[in-house]
Amino acid sequence: MTVRTRFAPSPTGYLHIGGARTALFSWLHARKHGGVFVLRIEDTDLERSTPESVNAILEGMAWLGLEYDEGPFYQTHRFDRYKEVVRQLLDAGHAYHCYCSREELDEMREAQRARGEKPRYDGRCRNRAAPREGVDPVVRFRNPTEGKVVVDDLIHGPIVFDNAELDDLIIARSDGTPTYNLTVVVDDMDMAITHVVRGDDHINNTPRQINILRALGAETPHYAHVAMILGEDGKKLSKRTGAASVMEYRDMGLLPEAVLNYLVRLGWSHGDQEVFSLDEMIELFDLNAVNKAASALNHQKLLWLNQHYFKTSPLEHVARHLSWHLGQRGVDPSTGPALESVVEALRERCKTLVEMADGSVIFYRDFEAYDAKAAAKHLTSAAEPALTALRARLTVLAEWTAAAIHDAVEQVAAHLEVGMGKVAQPLRVACTGAGVSPPIDQTLMLLGRERSLGGIDRALAHIAENRA
Ligand code: GLU
Repeated sequence: MTVRTRFAPSPTGYLHIGGARTALFSWLHARKHGGVFVLRIEDTDLERSTPESVNAILEGMAWLGLEYDEGPFYQTHRFDRYKEVVRQLLDAGHAYHCYCSREELDEMREAQRARGEKPRYDGRCRNRAAPREGVDPVVRFRNPTEGKVVVDDLIHGPIVFDNAELDDLIIARSDGTPTYNLTVVVDDMDMAITHVVRGDDHINNTPRQINILRALGAETPHYAHVAMILGEDGKKLSKRTGAASVMEYRDMGLLPEAVLNYLVRLGWSHGDQEVFSLDEMIELFDLNAVNKAASALNHQKLLWLNQHYFKTSPLEHVARHLSWHLGQRGVDPSTGPALESVVEALRERCKTLVEMADGSVIFYRDFEAYDAKAAAKHLTSAAEPALTALRARLTVLAEWTAAAIHDAVEQVAAHLEVGMGKVAQPLRVACTGAGVSPPIDQTLMLLGRERSLGGIDRALAHIAENRA
């Protein structure tokens, strides 16, 4: 049988890190087994679901590269189908109308509590012969009263529930709209889902869902309930401790493959291996090996992975992602040196694409002002001879290469009988505005001759002005 998995988010916010990991596990399982990955949008909560949130989920998945094979299917487009199944369950006697009012239910629960019992629906409408006039009933599922349901969870192992513990769940409200457990069951059945991967907050829904599936004569999928992700402090994730949206990870300057690698290791391991290419993840990932316990975020590890991918990915790949960050700064990367060469110069020095973009802007746009300290120290009358000599030599350099620039700087230093630093530092501040940059020869090479000479002229004018 073809493996079919699904990701079924409720569009009530962005795609957060926990949702992304559930999607990844589900996607990996499908990819590993030649299966199909379905995207289903569970938007039946009309008050909380928004189109913006659907877009945010799609955007997050696209950025991570978690492509789906079928969908997105929207539950709001399937109300007729849900009604049909509720009808089917009613007709077969697996469901019944319940006319109990809120007051009646409250009273019932109160009495149960008073007797020291767990509050639950007692099934009083199960065998009601006639409708109650003027009341729109809800529909309840007639849960079996005896026996056990075993959820053979791929992560947790078998979890046993007594049917006697499960009361008759509402599957359609009095206005006819279906409830969550019904829609999930109908969709998992119609979409022929073989493996349900989802958060372990759904464990308690699972025996109910299995009972409804059985009543419908449908196959029961395998279930894999994934533990939650904790903040760095080991506490439940909150906005403050990093319940970040996936797109925030992009904005922080991380590569999607670093985030995927990070996510896959939150709750899953393969020996002590930390770095997994996408192909390795697909090959090695195994739902059975996912950890039952919650796992905590670790920002340092994410940065470490990001740097690893900076160093090992093809330059053009990193360049493509850097390009977006430059665009965010209003810089058009087609107006300067090839981004690949910029990545090559900067990738060892940067942990994120944000740092890399900050360091690259000067190659595309003249800097606005000197770093005051660097200028005060290095752009003084003492630097004038070096800058003047550099200008002359760089103007006539036959080839604008890092090696040729390096030689020119060395020759000027030798000619003036000063250390390299006395030449290179003024040159650096002149051309970049700051006292730190990648090696000066690489920096000038990337800046290009015109911008470099322009920088020297600007610095000479600055020195003259300060003297006047
Ligand atoms: N829509 C549910 C949620 O976002 C998931 C339901 C499921 O995966 O079965 O929590």
